[in-house]
Parts: sequence; structure tokens; C-alpha cells
Amino acid sequence: MHEFALADAVIRSALEFAEQGGIARITKLVVRIGELQTIAREVFDYALKEIMPAAEPRLAEAVIVLETEPARFRCRPCAHEFTLAESGGPKEAEDAEAMHFIPELAHACLRCPRCQSPDFELLEGRGVSIASIEGE
Ligand SMILES: [Zn+2]
Repeated sequence: MHEFALADAVIRSALEFAEQGGIARITKLVVRIGELQTIAREVFDYALKEIMPAAEPRLAEAVIVLETEPARFRCRPCAHEFTLAESGGPKEAEDAEAMHFIPELAHACLRCPRCQSPDFELLEGRGVSIASIEGE
């Protein structure tokens, strides 16, 4: 039920933002999900678009959009910043699959495209956040 808890947290913050911004009815909500965030997309999507709006009149007519935030890494030795695609990505489809569930595996699968170091940090691409809210 991890996805339901996340969807619930997103909706709560959205409603808080709306309240602060004097929005009575949310018409559009854009949510960003990190590329490496561990989440069952279909379940999250369902919770966010079907379950939550049904229980919350301020969301009943909102268009809810899910965006993917690409993972971004920074190499520690050479400070080069790169994405999953630029690193060449994991060689095997299976590794790519595993990495979405265990982001720590990125270090076993990826190298800095400039200096080939496996020593890098993840800057973006984990977590769930609200990208924008529109309403009236
Ligand atoms: Zn490097």
C-alpha cells in the first residue's frame, strides 16, 4: 500500500498549496516521479486519478498528469553531470529493470561517461513531488 500512502501525501500537499494560493478547485495537477523512484506506476496512477479525487470535491474535476523526472548523476572525481541515457545505461534489460527497484544498483551498473568512474552521486530522479498546480 506504499503507492496509496504516497498518493495520499501528494494530494495532501496539493490541497495545502491550493489553500495557501486561494484556490478553491484544482483544475490541473502535475506530479513528477523520479525515474529511479521505487513505485508501482499503475497502482499510483490509479490511486491518484481514481481513488483520491472521488473522496475530495476540490479535486473532482482536476486533470492529473504524471511526469517522469529523469535521473541525473554527478561524478565525484571529475564533477561531470550525466543522465542514465548518457551513461550508456545498464547493458542488460534485466539490469535496467532491477535498477528501478534498487537505485543503489546504479553504482554496480553505471560508469561516468567521461572518466569511467563508478563513484557518483544521484542528484535527481528519486522521490515524488508536485511540479505545478492550477485552479480557480
Ligand atoms: Zn567522471
